[in-house]
Amino acid sequence: MAENIMSALAGIVRYGAGRLLDLLLPPRCLASGEIVDRQGQLSPQIWRELDFITAPLCNCCGGPFPYRIAADPAQICPACIARPPGWHRARAVFAYDAHSRPMILTFKHGDRLEGAPAFARWMARAGAEILEDTDYIVAVPLHWQRLLQRRYNQSAVLATHIGRLTGKPVIADMLRRVRSTPPLKGMNRTARYRQLKGAIAIAPQYEDAVAGARITVIDDVMTSGATAESCARALTALGAVRVDILTLARVVRPVDTFV
Ligand SMILES: [Zn+2]
Repeated sequence: MAENIMSALAGIVRYGAGRLLDLLLPPRCLASGEIVDRQGQLSPQIWRELDFITAPLCNCCGGPFPYRIAADPAQICPACIARPPGWHRARAVFAYDAHSRPMILTFKHGDRLEGAPAFARWMARAGAEILEDTDYIVAVPLHWQRLLQRRYNQSAVLATHIGRLTGKPVIADMLRRVRSTPPLKGMNRTARYRQLKGAIAIAPQYEDAVAGARITVIDDVMTSGATAESCARALTALGAVRVDILTLARVVRPVDTFV
């Protein structure tokens, strides 16, 4: 719990320092570093390269349908029908690919939080329908050992900004990692689910708040969905009536294979 609070505070302090820097240095594109008009902007070229996820979408996982399918807003992709996720809906701003990856990795590991307000604005827009009637915004937690290495939890920083934009309550330390997991990079879906199973729990002081609540979980990237699944299971087990997932980016796979 304490580590999540500290990470959120650290994020706010860093953001303040970033604003001070804006006064001294010209604003630069969040991805390419080119000079742009205002802080938090992308250069026109990067903007064109990003693969923004737009309707028609699977109403469950938020994966884009091929345009040849005339999807109605409630349509669900075959993968979600075959293997329903533990969460209700997931939404993301853009695809996690070669164009978006450097920007996200810099945000995640590079002590570069100046993009957070813009990322949060885009996420609030992409997740408008799920944020509209959510009771709490929470963040995917980092294990304390990883938090010590990174010094902030990027998901908690995003959650804090989205809470400010929407006026919804943020409980950045509601979820906690009860054990450390190895880096998931390179693992397939099954291995990721195995690693994450039971790795996330609810902080005891918030157990009562979860019962009957509609909760939106914030993360930076959804890859296999294993982390989202672990969060959703922990929240649902304590009585959450709906768990939605909102991420900045997500891996986009062909619609018939992704969950
Ligand atoms: Zn789906």
